[in-house]
Amino acid sequence: MLVTLNDLLIKAKAENYAVPATNIDNEHNLRAAVEAAEEMNSPLILNVTPQANPDLEFFGPIAAKMARRSSAKLCLNLDHGRDFKSCLLGIRSGFTNIMIDRSTLPYADNVREVKEMVRICHELGLTVEAELGHVGMGVQYDVDGDQALTDVEEAKAFIEETGADALAVAIGTAHGAYKGTPRIRFELLHKLRDAVPVPLVLHGGSGTGEENLRRCTREGINKLNLSNDLKKAAIENLTNRDLSGNTVYQLYPLLAEGFKNKIKYYIELCGCQGK
Ligand SMILES: [Zn+2]
Repeated sequence: MLVTLNDLLIKAKAENYAVPATNIDNEHNLRAAVEAAEEMNSPLILNVTPQANPDLEFFGPIAAKMARRSSAKLCLNLDHGRDFKSCLLGIRSGFTNIMIDRSTLPYADNVREVKEMVRICHELGLTVEAELGHVGMGVQYDVDGDQALTDVEEAKAFIEETGADALAVAIGTAHGAYKGTPRIRFELLHKLRDAVPVPLVLHGGSGTGEENLRRCTREGINKLNLSNDLKKAAIENLTNRDLSGNTVYQLYPLLAEGFKNKIKYYIELCGCQGK
């Protein structure tokens, strides 16, 4: 069934676990994600980024339809809506949560834009995720891994002012592959968890390390965004196989299988199996 972010994360925050948010961009990995959730009896968040899949009006309704007819509780999330237009397109295309990412703007502008989106989405029964502090790119991690971490007092005020339903925080992770070793600030995470009343989101989960992620998802993170690790697992499922004679159509299910198995691994890691 198709649900909002609050339908999944309020329970996750109360019970100290996280729900994976897996990036999907085609029918095969969409189907694989839905099957993983069903087979694990788990909630799951389907992430679509306009950067990877600009044709939201085509793909959104397909993903929404597949979610609606599934037995699993699934949220369809527009990931990193970086401008007003893509957020509105997301709403029109059947997404049930809109992440509006204005984290590179000055604080006051971020507040203003998020507040506006919250007003629109709440009127429609949808939820909103925002970002404060900035989760950068892993390729620059050795340079800017310490910069733009989320400030606790600011995060608290930001949620009061905007009314956002979930907050993506910067505690030392990065998007994509890391150049250097991730340094997760658990102390900062604990302070944020205690000060901010809404569920916290971790972007840049891939490559962060199993032990770090297990701790994050028990100590304050309720939504774990994953992309790179899933794509890698899909490719790895093609290696060490005799692919001679296979057509491209036979490769899609193999890619989807690798993707699905990795999502199941993350469902277990996040502690949301059976939830
Ligand atoms: Zn992200």
